[in-house]
Amino acid sequence: MGKSGGTKMYCPKCKEIRVCKAIPINDIDWEQKNAQRWYRKDHPDINWFRRGRECLECEHHFITSEINEKYIDELVELRNALADIKKHSEQYIDESNQASGTLQKLSDSLSLLQALKLYKDTD
Ligand SMILES: [Zn+2]
Repeated sequence: MGKSGGTKMYCPKCKEIRVCKAIPINDIDWEQKNAQRWYRKDHPDINWFRRGRECLECEHHFITSEINEKYIDELVELRNALADIKKHSEQYIDESNQASGTLQKLSDSLSLLQALKLYKDTD
């Protein structure tokens, strides 16, 4: 805590490190979740402590969460895994488009062969 009653932290609006003061959660209370200790019903192991914040530079209000750091590692791992899946799926789409083009050429060749066969049969 600084003399101004704030802590230096990342302001999501300024996208910079700013001095932000703690404010009561219910000044923000977007979703009627004004308890400071919070958890997910679907993931009860994810528990965190919430704090309302006000950026002293831009007056933006936001909520920070104090959480076991292992969840940050998990978040980064999941983000990276999703980025990989996205990258690979784009590659698979390209490959499947190429394969589809090749199949069309094969189909055209077979049609041509069929036509030649019909032509020969009429001899
Ligand atoms: Zn700000």
